[in-house]
Amino acid sequence: MSTQRSEDVWQHLAACRGPSQTIFFPPGRLERRSEKRLREQRAKEICQTCSVQNECLSYALAIREQHGIWGGLTENERRDLMSGGSGDQRSGAVIITTQGWR
Ligand code: SF4
Repeated sequence: MSTQRSEDVWQHLAACRGPSQTIFFPPGRLERRSEKRLREQRAKEICQTCSVQNECLSYALAIREQHGIWGGLTENERRDLMSGGSGDQRSGAVIITTQGWR
């Protein structure tokens, strides 16, 4: 019987698996603002095609992930969302948080 936790199964369906993973996190060097904006935009475009975007975002919020693009949101957008702001730029998204559904 698989020991894979059901809540992790979504990770196998991630559209960012493979070589494109690198654009979801800042490079290990100084990144110009224009580079960062372009990299994040490219990552968000991949998230828009991802079938597990809501699960991904819910997971990142639940573990308070501090780095990278998760569920189509940047670190700042997730932080804003967690603090009750409207950080979520996506339309029609359903997010599971510790306070329930949104
Ligand atoms: S929503 Fe984005 S970051 Fe999350 S699994 Fe899908 S492609 Fe990857």
